[in-house]
Amino acid sequence: MPLREARHFINGVFTPGTSGRVFDNIGPATGQRIGIVHEGLKPEVDAAVAAARAALRGPWSVMSQAERSDLLHGVANEINNRFEEFLEAEVLDTGKPRSLASHIDIPRGAANFKIFADLVKNVPAETFMLDTPDRQGALNYALRKPKGVIAVIAPWNLPLLLMTWKVGPALACGNTVVVKPSEETPLTTTLLGEVMNAVGVPPGVFNVVHGFGPDSAGAFLTAHPGVNAITFTGETRTGEIIMQSAAVGLRQVSMECGGKNAALVFADCDLDKAIEGTMRSAFANCGQVCLGTERIYVERPIFERFVTRLKSAAEGLRMGAPDDPATSLGPLISAEHKRKVLAYYRIAVEEGATVVTGGGEPAMPPELAQGAWVEPTIFTGLPQTARAVREEIFGPVCHIAPFDTEEEAIRLANDTDYGLATAIWTGDLSRAHRVASRIDVGIAWVNSWFLRDLRTAFGGSKQSGIGREGGVHGLEFYTELSNVCVKL
Ligand code: NAD
Repeated sequence: MPLREARHFINGVFTPGTSGRVFDNIGPATGQRIGIVHEGLKPEVDAAVAAARAALRGPWSVMSQAERSDLLHGVANEINNRFEEFLEAEVLDTGKPRSLASHIDIPRGAANFKIFADLVKNVPAETFMLDTPDRQGALNYALRKPKGVIAVIAPWNLPLLLMTWKVGPALACGNTVVVKPSEETPLTTTLLGEVMNAVGVPPGVFNVVHGFGPDSAGAFLTAHPGVNAITFTGETRTGEIIMQSAAVGLRQVSMECGGKNAALVFADCDLDKAIEGTMRSAFANCGQVCLGTERIYVERPIFERFVTRLKSAAEGLRMGAPDDPATSLGPLISAEHKRKVLAYYRIAVEEGATVVTGGGEPAMPPELAQGAWVEPTIFTGLPQTARAVREEIFGPVCHIAPFDTEEEAIRLANDTDYGLATAIWTGDLSRAHRVASRIDVGIAWVNSWFLRDLRTAFGGSKQSGIGREGGVHGLEFYTELSNVCVKL
């Protein structure tokens, strides 16, 4: 297979930039080089931000909302027309099963443009009539204006989906963007540049600069004074660093960060559904989902049964080549991440965990032996204070602990620095509402997981993030409200 070259996309043109620096793109399924990526430094970021600023004054700015929305529908349609190319690129970059990427990553990547293109057309502006002494009144109404140039810093776990989740609403609101995709997954963001040109999105509206975080494209972009706001998805520690950058010039941030999410399984649940849902929430995408559940709390009467059944389900997962339809579990994103996850497997054992299943590296066939594979793993027996129970591992791993009362379940779920999501499994509707309202998270699922209505608010509390994107909530971030007061 020919090596893929990921170039920057600046002002509608693919360019290697001037830094002269490249790095290897390694396919995580095989550990082999699949391409090279041009690293952007300050000059590339300067050029991309300049292009994005210029585009704010160009044809993009005079387009009607309906015209912009039509263009974004065109982007979604073109992604779907080139579905196989996007799918191949995403699978190469991430090693995830084709079946998963074709059901989630690529369709949602396209849908992110449509949903926000439609949504912005239907957001009412607020109006107030103010009483005045002359009794004529004053009419106040709000205008939603684009915020300007938005820096989009994206992660590697759902590369196209999570990047377009930000680019879609940003462009729908009339902003321009500079995207810094993860260094691990440059391909689909690069392809999106081709799509933008093909459907006629004006040059400079969508720009991409590749590179790393510190001392590289990410840090230069978030520090750039020409950037009006920064939207970030990634680790909480990275978010803290980016917020410090954003403080200079008082630039607004939207932060979608880590999680250590709890599933609460009550004895009155439909156990088949709870097992099926927990299997997905713990192991889908090799556990590399911010919404995944690494902490499972099960009501004591069904604890042993739940552990036995989840063990047998986990042992039924099949690791293998992404193209093999039988593959249900892919690799981790990189050798470095594999070292981190395996380190947590060791830490858990040192902390006294019982290994129910997994805990190590699988034996893979020779063509996959250099890939970033780890076994799906279930632990029990750790105290709530254990690092493996408190820190986000971001791998195919969960710890299962028993609880005795609803009150205890709520306390355990909330006993974390994070607050992204939870999944509650119960047959008692009143309990479902009661518990959901008391867990400190942005998203509480009842008898489901990862069921997403894109019109709803998405985000986390505590160290899982700042702000909400999704639906009209994202529009608060991507627009600036400007009040007009007219004396009548
Ligand atoms: P990461 O923080 O390592 O990297 C995310 C992005 O930030 C990458 O593009 C990276 O190059 C860039 N970056 C790193 N340092 C930077 C710096 N100093 N300045 C500017 N940019 C910098 O995260 P990751 O490993 O790519 O993704 C996994 C993490 O993302 C997990 O913690 C996961 O929970 C989180 N995540 C959260 C959500 C959510 O919606 N809350 C969704 C997906 C992933």
